[in-house]
Amino acid sequence: MNDNIKRIDPRRPFIVTSAGLKRITLGEIGSGALHDFVATHHDAAKPRRTAKVSRRAVLVAAHTDRGALDDHGRQALAAAALLADDETEVVLIAFGAFSDDAASLGADRYIELPGFDRRHFAPDEELRALAACVAAFTPVHVFMPDNATGDGDLGRRYAARAGASIATHVVELDLQHVAAYAHAGRAVALRALPDVILLAPNAVDAKLPYVGAGARVNSEDVVPATMPSAYVDLGIEEMDAAQVALEEADFIISAGNGVTDVPAFEALASTLGAAIGASRVAVDDGKFSRDKQIGATGKTVEASVYIAFGISGAVQHLQGIKDCRHVIAVNLDASAPIAKRANLTIVADTQETIKALTDAASAARASRTNGSPILQTATLAEGAYA
Ligand SMILES: Cc1cc2nc3c(=O)[nH]c(=O)nc-3n(C[C@H](O)[C@H](O)[C@H](O)COP(=O)(O)OP(=O)(O)OC[C@H]3O[C@@H](n4cnc5c(N)ncnc54)[C@H](O)[C@@H]3O)c2cc1C
Repeated sequence: MNDNIKRIDPRRPFIVTSAGLKRITLGEIGSGALHDFVATHHDAAKPRRTAKVSRRAVLVAAHTDRGALDDHGRQALAAAALLADDETEVVLIAFGAFSDDAASLGADRYIELPGFDRRHFAPDEELRALAACVAAFTPVHVFMPDNATGDGDLGRRYAARAGASIATHVVELDLQHVAAYAHAGRAVALRALPDVILLAPNAVDAKLPYVGAGARVNSEDVVPATMPSAYVDLGIEEMDAAQVALEEADFIISAGNGVTDVPAFEALASTLGAAIGASRVAVDDGKFSRDKQIGATGKTVEASVYIAFGISGAVQHLQGIKDCRHVIAVNLDASAPIAKRANLTIVADTQETIKALTDAASAARASRTNGSPILQTATLAEGAYA
């Protein structure tokens, strides 16, 4: 994992311009007018789930990523809010920094535990923190995303330690039962709602018709100070981003027919710490090996950020990036189909943009090494945004 480069916060809000293109709005997160508009406009439309005094609680525990819950974490929160009756409050335990709007995600109360990070291995401390929250809120159920990035492991550890009943890989649930696939997907296993529910991805739609109360609870009131751990975290071993399997890559830059300077493109990938993908035309031309092809007859990817350089966005290519979170297109043609899929379109020449980004990222690295404030690499190309 390469963490040396400060990147655009991919969860910044975007607006639709008069040209119909979407643009990430730089510097507006947290307190800007747009943020206020987004928050109030969004929340005003939805009623509070319940205003009654709560008698019970359900807990949702999930690790955050760069201050936000990912889709899977949001789905676990939505599952809890959908099953909770009007005398049950939904309490979110956010492992890691949390700057999302807890109310709009469905939480009535939330605790932020910024001392934890999904990239830091602290199994016994996390277990203690979760156990302390369970002791404080005595929830009827604990919901967690069943993922391989910390939550699935923590949920299982907690259930084993507390002697709690648990269901994993839950694909369906209602007030009475949970269901998971069995016998390699040929059967469905049902059981009564257990203490701990680990949800498979996409079992629940994260969009809720209502909001929670979103009250913050001071973590020191609930979670004890950290104690010595039996584990030593040796840190994350960095590896060349080009070695990361495309299906697992969180940040991909991809080249199409509009990329002519392949070495410059590869140098940008290495500077940004991004994995490399390509369109079929670029692969057929011999510029990239077949295993880099993304699309219907190539790989399907789920990156948080996917930058398409000189790719038209043919339907077969779009099929491979349907699960990408933020797509950025660099294309001379503002009406190319990729622009409809992209969250941000830069109408510019690929070679010029690749050079500008490489220079900006290298400068950011150098200033970081010198101890100066980190440059926002994106701002250098800002003038080119459509
Ligand atoms: C059965 C089948 C399966 C297929 N499977 C796949 C697949 O898995 N993956 C896949 O990608 N395709 C697949 N294709 C091919 C697909 O239909 C497209 O032909 C292909 O994706 C186009 O690649 P491209 O966008 O790189 O090239 P082009 O269509 O040539 O588009 C190049 C783009 O780059 C832009 N451009 C050109 N020069 C510059 C410049 N200097 N600066 C900025 N922008 C520039 C152009 O405006 C254009 O939008 C499949 C097709 C079929 C029939």
